[in-house]
Amino acid sequence: MPIIESALDARHAHYDFTLAAGEPWLYDLKRGQTLRIVDLEGNQAVDTLFYRSADPVERYSAQDTIRAQRNLYLSAGSVLMSNLGNPLLTIVADTCGRHDTLGGACAAESNTVRYALDKRHMHSCRDSYLNALAHCTCGAAALLGKRDLVSNINFFMNVPVTPLGKLTFEDGISAPGKYVEVRAEDDVTVLISNCPQLNNPCNGYNPTPVRLLVWEA
Ligand SMILES: [Zn+2]
Repeated sequence: MPIIESALDARHAHYDFTLAAGEPWLYDLKRGQTLRIVDLEGNQAVDTLFYRSADPVERYSAQDTIRAQRNLYLSAGSVLMSNLGNPLLTIVADTCGRHDTLGGACAAESNTVRYALDKRHMHSCRDSYLNALAHCTCGAAALLGKRDLVSNINFFMNVPVTPLGKLTFEDGISAPGKYVEVRAEDDVTVLISNCPQLNNPCNGYNPTPVRLLVWEA
């Protein structure tokens, strides 16, 4: 879990936006640009997918990324690979130290299975993803739909694998102000759901905003 701080200054960012808890975000990141995600209040889960903007059939692949780095967890130095085996982004700075590749995005179905039948109708990341895509009429995102919602990254989320091979959702290891930075190795479309989940200790049962900054190459 290498901790690497960024040399970039927020005052020089060309984009700076605070994304409210439970809201989605779509953004076209250009090759060479750097995106920083700041966990403003700590223990927030930021469910994230990446697609190659020129042809979004090529997208982030958890399987290829895990295999390439021989590690389930992401941190500074991790290269986020596509389903065609190409590097899409590199994690260039990280003050949290661990990000999840396995937990997936919460959905009506997982709310039911993990928590209770009456949690089915609560707001979920999958709903946020679909909502963002449904309202997008241009760029790569307009081509994306339900079938493109593959296994995502959960930035700042702590999902350790037990010795028996099971997953546990633990209290987050992130804290207020911790951040992760990715540099785009190609033009990539970023789809985020700032997780609205109210039933999970990963975010302290309390979804909170994140800050998103982008620097030019
Ligand atoms: Zn979620």
